[in-house]
Amino acid sequence: MSERDPLVAGNWKMNGDASSLDGLLDGLLTELSGLALRRCSVLVFPSYVYLGQVAQKLLGSGIGVGSQDVDQRAQGAVTGGVSADMLKDVGCRFVLVGHSERRTLFAESDKLVTDKFEQCRSQGLVPIICVGETLEERRQDRTIEVVTRQLKVVTSRVGLAGFDGAVIAYEPVWAIGTGESATPEQAEEVHAGLRRSLAELDENLSCRTRILYGGSVTADNAVALFGMENVDGALVGGASLKANSFAEICKAAEES
Ligand code: PEP
Repeated sequence: MSERDPLVAGNWKMNGDASSLDGLLDGLLTELSGLALRRCSVLVFPSYVYLGQVAQKLLGSGIGVGSQDVDQRAQGAVTGGVSADMLKDVGCRFVLVGHSERRTLFAESDKLVTDKFEQCRSQGLVPIICVGETLEERRQDRTIEVVTRQLKVVTSRVGLAGFDGAVIAYEPVWAIGTGESATPEQAEEVHAGLRRSLAELDENLSCRTRILYGGSVTADNAVALFGMENVDGALVGGASLKANSFAEICKAAEES
């Protein structure tokens, strides 16, 4: 058993409404109460507009709440912006930074991702930094180079103290929402590479940092993925929108 307790995070993306998300949470609370998780932490990431509602409902449940994004600025004349302080105010503790959909659809650069990471840290929020290669980059055998670059941009700016406590999510772009997950061996190879990269900064930091896998994780492939030494949980998109499949993934993580 690894010294790192598993973490399973559900990224709900731009899905649901007040009523359907309430129903999803009811289902999740029922499913998870039957599991009595002791090791596995569970998080959900609703859209901004439902964060307060979801955080209120989950108060005292043991399920944490995170945001899918944050503005890199602290406050001020930023129409449409949502600050880290506001996220904390409505009950968030975690933030996804650098999700590939943000990098692609919103042209978020490594620098902007790092600015957001720093903003989270300065407000006491836990960033989950997402890294991953495209299919073309994988075919060019550049996977490790790409993901370590994405990670090192952050670690070289924030250093050991600034990174400690953050979480990494390895999400191959070609596996997100496609139904084609990385194999456990492919995931393990990249997770081990990311851990080696962190070890260049600090060996202990590398050992204690959780690295999640994301990309078409389902109840069917979770057990094999979590069986890998360096896979410490999952960031789950599609399968997190059904209470029973998400709970099955949490169960697999708990038993890994
Ligand atoms: C994600 O959006 O982070 C993700 C991994 O999605 P899916 O599980 O649907 O591939």
